[in-house]
Amino acid sequence: KVQEGELLRRKLHNTILELKGNIRVFCRVRPLLPNDEEKESMPVVQYPTSNELQGDGIELLQATGGQRHFFSFDKVFGPEVKQEQVFVEISQLVQSALDGYKVCMFAYGQTGSGKTHTMLGNPDVPGEGGVIPRSLEQVFQSSQALSAQGWSFRMQASMLEIYNETIRDLLVKGSVNSDSSKQYVVKHDSNGNTSVSDLTLVDVTHWKEVSNLLHQASQSRSVGKTAMNEQSSRSHCVFTLRISGVNESTEQQVHGVLNLIDLAGSERLSRSGATGDRLKETQAINKSLSSLGDVIMAIANKEPHVPYRNSKLTYLLQPCLGGDSKTLMFVNISPDSKSFNESLCSLRFAAKVNACEIGIPRRQIAQGPRICES
Ligand code: ADP
Ligand code: MG
Repeated sequence: KVQEGELLRRKLHNTILELKGNIRVFCRVRPLLPNDEEKESMPVVQYPTSNELQGDGIELLQATGGQRHFFSFDKVFGPEVKQEQVFVEISQLVQSALDGYKVCMFAYGQTGSGKTHTMLGNPDVPGEGGVIPRSLEQVFQSSQALSAQGWSFRMQASMLEIYNETIRDLLVKGSVNSDSSKQYVVKHDSNGNTSVSDLTLVDVTHWKEVSNLLHQASQSRSVGKTAMNEQSSRSHCVFTLRISGVNESTEQQVHGVLNLIDLAGSERLSRSGATGDRLKETQAINKSLSSLGDVIMAIANKEPHVPYRNSKLTYLLQPCLGGDSKTLMFVNISPDSKSFNESLCSLRFAAKVNACEIGIPRRQIAQGPRICES
C-alpha cells in the first residue's frame, strides 16, 4: 500500500515536471540578519498556497511609495524554512541523477541573499548543511542500497570556478591555479558529454571525502580572494558529480550528472563606479547571467536555436540543460528594504524563466531581467 502511494506520488510529480518542461524555480527569502538595518519592517510578504500545479506566491512591497509586485513560483520558502525542509523538496530531483538524468541546480541572487547558504550551508554544523552536502549524502546512501540489487557505481567529483569567462580548477592542490599553462578548455564529445581539459576529477565514495574536497576548494577560492578582491561573489562556482552505474546481472548502465551551481552575485554595480577590471568583471557577470536566462528561456519555449555558446557557463553545462535533463533554479532574496530593487530584479529574472515554462510566449513577458533601474 505504501509503495502504491509512493508510485502515484511519483507519477503525479513526473506529470507536473512534464508540464513544466523539466524547469522549476524555487524562491527562498533569507531571514533578517543583525547587520540589516531594519529589525521588523519587511518589504517581502509571502502568500504560500498549497496548489501543487500553480505553486506558491510571493509579494514584494516597497517600504515607501507602496509599490507592490506579485510573483508566483513552484515553491516559495520563507525566512523560517530550514535547510532540511528545502531539501525535502529537491531530494527527488537529486535521486533522478542516480537514475541516469542530468540535473542542474542553480542559486541566483544578489550577494548576501543566501546563495552559498542554500547550496553549501555549513556542512560541519548539524542541520545546517545545504543542498550540496545533503545531495551527496543521499546519493551515497542510495547507491549503497542499490548495490543489493547488483548495481555498482562510480562517482567522480569536480569543482571549478568561472571568473571573467575563465575557468579555474578549485581542486588543484597548492597554488597551481596560478599556473597559466593550464587551459581548461571545454570540450563536447559525440555522446553529448562535456569534459574540461586538465580538470581534476576525484573519485568519491563517501561524504567525508567530499567534505575534504570542499574545504580544499574553499581554501583555493580564498587564495584567489586576497589577490582578486572578493572574487567568490564575482564568480560562478560549479560543483559536479558524475555518476556511472552498471548492473552486473542485467548489464544495464546509467550515466547521470549532478551539477550544483552557486552563481555570481546578480547585483548591478553603479555604472559610474565600475571602471577597468571591475567594469570588465561586471560585464562578464552580466553577460553570463543573462545568457543563462536566455538559454533556459529558449529551452522552455522549445525554440529551435538555444544560444549555449554565448557564455562559458552555458557552454559548459550544455548537455545538462535542455533535452530530458532537469533544471532547478533557486532565486535567493534578501528581505531588507535596501535590497528592494535588487530583489525585484531577481524575481523578474526568475519569473521570466518560470513564466516561459508554462507556455507564456516570450514577447508577453516583462522586459529583460537585468534592465531594472539601479
Ligand atoms: P550569498 O552567497 O548569496 O552572497 P550567503 O549565503 O553568504 O549569501 O548569505 C549571507 C549571510 O546570510 C550569511 O551569513 C548566511 O549565513 C546568512 N543566511 C543566508 N540565508 C540564510 C537562511 N536561510 N537562514 C539563516 N541565515 C542565512
Ligand atoms: Mg556566496
